Amino acid sequence: MTNPDQRLLYDSVRDYIEQLREEGMDGLPIKDRPVNSATVEAKRETIVASKPLNAEMFGRYPGIENAADLPSLRSFIGECTRCKLHGHRTNLVFGVGNPNADLMFIGEGPGADEDAQGEPFVGRAGQLLTDIIERGMGIKRADVYICNVVKCRPPENRNPEPDEVFACEPFLFRQIEIVKPRVIVGLGTFAVQCVLKVKTPISKLRGNWQEVRGIKMMPTFHPAYLLRSPGEKRFVWSDIQEVMRTLGLPIPGRGKD
Ligand code: SF4
Repeated sequence: MTNPDQRLLYDSVRDYIEQLREEGMDGLPIKDRPVNSATVEAKRETIVASKPLNAEMFGRYPGIENAADLPSLRSFIGECTRCKLHGHRTNLVFGVGNPNADLMFIGEGPGADEDAQGEPFVGRAGQLLTDIIERGMGIKRADVYICNVVKCRPPENRNPEPDEVFACEPFLFRQIEIVKPRVIVGLGTFAVQCVLKVKTPISKLRGNWQEVRGIKMMPTFHPAYLLRSPGEKRFVWSDIQEVMRTLGLPIPGRGKD
């Protein structure tokens, strides 16, 4: 059992680590750890997204290619027990929005509010994302498509584990294929690294166009990070303006490019 002071300390440390993670730090340094060549090479990693073949990914779930639309894919997923996250969920959070959207937002996984309501991005971070879409971009939330890498809530809002991502990612990639957006916005370190299959920090990726299965992807910070670090909003607005330019949306004060 933890007392309130311990809980406060725990929450502060967790928020701090989460902030470091969002800024691209993979872990905390260990004192006097020798620098080896592998560490140096890892820092030189080039930003090139690998492209796992559909055959390999979809081969995990024969028949998934036959899900030709989102309702069919949702039926295919069913009351999923393909990874251990199923035991923690109230609702499976599949995705929401326009099935023919030009723009798709991908986050990490459902939080408590999303788990309770069965819809992605409905908590405080979700409200900020909605503001970015509706007040910033001037389009309706219902006109974009929003989903996560994993569809069930990780306990204590921890990162999804590799086996959970492995189990769930075919559903995300099939969603991408079905919606066929013109542009994807990747929200936060975890989602971006999962989709691109890289370990490059979000601080290096954000603001730079990437590619996922022939679709342009703009990595940017997660709205939850912006709630803790509002000074970073200017970077996200810059990234979102780049997305708006690509989609031909008018940017306030500039008119259509
Ligand atoms: Fe199934 Fe994905 Fe939920 Fe795991 S996270 S139980 S793979 S829907």
